[in-house]
Amino acid sequence: MAERTLHKTPGSLEHYLSDYESARQRFDWSESRRALTGSSDPHLNLAHEAVDRQVERGRADQIAARFLDREWRRVDVTYGDLQRHSNQFANVLRSLGIARGATIATLLGRVPELFSAALGAVKAGNVFCSLFSAFGPDPLKTRLQLGHVQLLVTTENLYRRKVAPIRSDLPELRSVLIVSEGTERKLPEGTSDFACLMDGASDAYQTTLTRDTDVALLHFTSGTTGKPKGVTLTHAAVIAQHATSQLVLDLHPGEVYWCTADPGWVTGIAYGLIGPLTCGVQLIVDREEFDPQRWYQILEEERVNVWYTAPTAIRMLMKAGTALTRERHYPQLRHMASVGEPLNGEAVLWGVEAFGMPFHDTWWQTETGAIMIANFAACDVLPGSMGRAVPGVEAQVVRRTAQGTLEVVESPEQVGEIALRPGWPSMFSSYLEDPERYRQSFLDGWYLAGDLARRDNEGYFWFVGRADDVIKSAGHLISPFEVESTLMTHPAVAQVAVIGVPDPIAGQAVKAFVELRSGFEGNDALRRQIMGHARRLLGAVVAPREIVFSDSLPRTRSGKIMRRLLRARELGLPEGDLSTLEGRE
Ligand code: ATP
Ligand code: MG
Repeated sequence: MAERTLHKTPGSLEHYLSDYESARQRFDWSESRRALTGSSDPHLNLAHEAVDRQVERGRADQIAARFLDREWRRVDVTYGDLQRHSNQFANVLRSLGIARGATIATLLGRVPELFSAALGAVKAGNVFCSLFSAFGPDPLKTRLQLGHVQLLVTTENLYRRKVAPIRSDLPELRSVLIVSEGTERKLPEGTSDFACLMDGASDAYQTTLTRDTDVALLHFTSGTTGKPKGVTLTHAAVIAQHATSQLVLDLHPGEVYWCTADPGWVTGIAYGLIGPLTCGVQLIVDREEFDPQRWYQILEEERVNVWYTAPTAIRMLMKAGTALTRERHYPQLRHMASVGEPLNGEAVLWGVEAFGMPFHDTWWQTETGAIMIANFAACDVLPGSMGRAVPGVEAQVVRRTAQGTLEVVESPEQVGEIALRPGWPSMFSSYLEDPERYRQSFLDGWYLAGDLARRDNEGYFWFVGRADDVIKSAGHLISPFEVESTLMTHPAVAQVAVIGVPDPIAGQAVKAFVELRSGFEGNDALRRQIMGHARRLLGAVVAPREIVFSDSLPRTRSGKIMRRLLRARELGLPEGDLSTLEGRE
């Protein structure tokens, strides 16, 4: 697996993690909390740390976020603006009689108003929930009902198409505020004008005195393995989001940072807003969708220093070809990281080929609220590995014993479940309306993540697959990720998903769905060639028995391959919850 080690990024901040072991030993979350807030005040507010604290530190006039639109118009928002706008929004909530603790949601694209609402709601002691703007009425209804949302901020267009048809099913939704896109005819009935209310509100607000354990955020999971779950995070999440923005993303005040995740998913809030603002950086927010040329232009023209993106995007850039990457220059770029899905070693190495530096994989989940396992900027990168536990996080690979307890797996060869010892500050506080599921996520003093991995003798984690996705064939446990990574080394393969299909003798057999790079034709000869390549590298038991070519693999809107859907289609089973399937409404 670890064929090559990529040595640490030159110039990365050596004082952070140059000595990983001693950094781990020295680390203490209560000290991180003090470093973040500058005091040991028992009150803590996630939005206050992201904005007001930065203004206190002299950043009022510094750009906090630059929004880019299709025509390359830039809208800059300073830390001072963010403070005023979030205060205004907090006052709007109070003036509308929304009580502390109630849930406020947005259904918006990547616009400044989303940031004002998110930060204002949290400052006011409310729970904030960002809903992905491409959701259709049904998934919206489920989420608004489950979250008991009392106020929604959206646009006229989204409201008319998606919310108006379900409004009568949402008795708890008291207010809807409409953000202008400049094209409105008339305010829809039962809604109010966002800008008008904001203009009438004071821009001074004394942040509500919240505590570490109060809920601040509600996120819905990606729905990769089943029906999306509502996950709550508390104000204390900011402690871990801040620490990891420094330790893992290596963010420093004044730097330009681009997180490509949409705020509709946890990454877009934790690392597209909160964590990086607590580090005093300038965020880049692109309002457009993925486009290789546009992305390269942003990296170059906006002089991005640190870039956090996802494997699907990286693989699509690889598919578009390195020649395109090289048309531009990125002298300011010094650190690149990835999250959301397994990052194939091939993609890590492509980073070196295309940008002169590797992508640093990071692992976490909505439930963990912050990065838990990572390749650090100041440490060597093992391509294909997710890296090591973040200081302050105790992570292990465990297996269940016959007595119903857990046992740490000592052998680096043995696969087990990723387990985290509760105690890190951003651990989720509930699954909405599913306390039983929450309880079952913990066993024997550990949180069980539902992902399988190996852990080597140096503490590096190697992803094997989701517990639901792992394939058992002729007594072997086959990692879909390992098979996919090997197939990716074939020059014709752009993306691939591997599942297990029933086999009368072996129990399960491996089947691969392959998306080809441009210029390749999916015929029998190519199929045989890829099959031969896989057999040579993986052996006959692990290599796919069947390969089918596919124009596009089913993905979640957050860019993850939905293997469960491929499996369901294969077996003729019900397709399950498809609310997060890309291309659906
Ligand atoms: P659902 O829980 O609804 O099925 P989801 O698990 O995809 O959806 P998220 O919380 O957004 O929802 O994603 C977390 C999961 O993403 C992890 O449990 C893991 O399976 C996968 N993941 C995230 N980062 C990595 C990574 N670096 N390598 C491998 N897998 C990753
Ligand atoms: Mg999950």
